[in-house]
Amino acid sequence: MSAPRPETAGTPAGTTDALLRRARELDAADPLASYRGHFIGTDTELSYLDGNSLGRPLKRTVTDISGFIQDSWGGRLIRGWDEEWLELPQAIGDQLGRAVLGAAPGQTVIADSTTVVLYKLIRAALAAVTDPVRTEIVLDTDNFPTDRYLVEGIAREEGLTLRWIDADPSSGVTVEQVRAATGPATAVVVLSQVAYRSGFLADLPGITAAVHDAGGLVVWDLCHSAGSVEIALDTADVDFAAGCTYKYLNGGPGSPAFAYVNARHLAGLQQPIWGWMGRKDAFEMGPGYEAAAGIRGFLSGTPAIFGMLAMRGTLDLIEEVGMAAVREKSCLLTAFAVELHDAWLAPAGVELSTPRNPELRGSHITVDHPAFREMTAALWEQDVIPDFRAPQGIRIGLSPLGTSFTELYRGVAAIRERLEEGRSGQDQDRPFRQD
Ligand SMILES: *Cc1c(COP(=O)(O)O)cnc(C)c1O
Repeated sequence: MSAPRPETAGTPAGTTDALLRRARELDAADPLASYRGHFIGTDTELSYLDGNSLGRPLKRTVTDISGFIQDSWGGRLIRGWDEEWLELPQAIGDQLGRAVLGAAPGQTVIADSTTVVLYKLIRAALAAVTDPVRTEIVLDTDNFPTDRYLVEGIAREEGLTLRWIDADPSSGVTVEQVRAATGPATAVVVLSQVAYRSGFLADLPGITAAVHDAGGLVVWDLCHSAGSVEIALDTADVDFAAGCTYKYLNGGPGSPAFAYVNARHLAGLQQPIWGWMGRKDAFEMGPGYEAAAGIRGFLSGTPAIFGMLAMRGTLDLIEEVGMAAVREKSCLLTAFAVELHDAWLAPAGVELSTPRNPELRGSHITVDHPAFREMTAALWEQDVIPDFRAPQGIRIGLSPLGTSFTELYRGVAAIRERLEEGRSGQDQDRPFRQD
């Protein structure tokens, strides 16, 4: 697969100006450009390329949160639970389902952290598998650490076998690999829709169908896809899904996760953390545990109301513009990032570790170079903020509603300058490339 060559490549004198012009043209043609102004800090020169790890706050979050403290918490006090708060995990879950997940109401709830939600969902999925010969959990070698550790722990708890898919770190898990790894012994398959490292976008409908053909259930991790790619959980007949709300949904550091349980599995849902909030008639405080009906039975303890307020601003914006427009801008942003890489970084020995076809990636790209570990700290110092992923990757995360093409241009220009400095400074002592 070869990328369309940027028209500016190979003309060193004109490259910078031509690419800057192009960034400005892309901004001028961007139908979502005005949405950048909704975010705090976008009127500065800072280049934020890590909205896939922690989204920027919206300006309205300041008033949403202070209004909540003043009027709701401060004014209604304990009455707030009955009047509104107890319903918020489901109300915001339904909005998220509608705006982002392609999920009908009553299947999505805001709760816990992604790690805890995944634990509960994987255990619930295993409990829904009744055939005793289904003893394998399928996972991949390149999934996010928490996902791998959880599955390893659950396999030990339940006496199950792990079946690993060896994922290509610069792309990701394919339908063919899933077909090969699943069969009569498969209980549950746990995968991420967008690979946290390479940005590879897995074929969620295709893989879900493959898992079902093998008689298993699937748990999808949507951390890097919720709010960046179009998702249709109901249409794909996904069984279970979980994800973060502090990445593309801008819920703020540590904002609670979401859980999706297909209505088909809700009736007999058995999740492992039996708390009073997930019990039928919670305030009866009666003896023994009996799960509440529907998605409410997925809850365990007191919901983190404070932490789920900020994400509503982003859900409102997404409902306004639609995920199709968000995805379209995301593809243009990652394509421009690849173009900048080809023109500036590849000649300096950097490698692209993300698929070149926009349909096969989410909203970030990863570029690799041995100097990146040290360089990232220097970039942060100068207000250029991507993130580093071991062993030698810089991830350039492009949150579609808040990131501009010139902001991306500035960020990659800074990486190029650092590489050039490193080269001239290091000629004498040690070679820059270690290949
Ligand atoms: C960010 C991320 C997580 C984080 O889980 P927490 O419980 O919020 O720390 C989990 N899985 C994936 C794939 C992620 O990208």
